[in-house]
Amino acid sequence: MIVTCGECGKKVEIEPENVIERKVPGYGLRETYFICPHCETEFPVCITNRECRMLQVQIRNTDTQFREPLQKKLRKMMNELNGKGER
Ligand SMILES: [Zn+2]
Repeated sequence: MIVTCGECGKKVEIEPENVIERKVPGYGLRETYFICPHCETEFPVCITNRECRMLQVQIRNTDTQFREPLQKKLRKMMNELNGKGER
């Protein structure tokens, strides 16, 4: 995935080595963010909790045709965590 850095305006390829996960205050919460290799600005990607991460593993281990309800649940959880919940 390629994004444009909002800080230096350069195109940045998001690669696993640019993506970092760190613990944030709160029970089992982790923030995923990536660092622009040009200007070293941090860009938050998303916040996950233990439940989300367990669900992600579960989805990976589930046959494709049965994934939909799990993915729906995950999206809802992620939206709530990241403040994009529709209510
Ligand atoms: Zn940059």
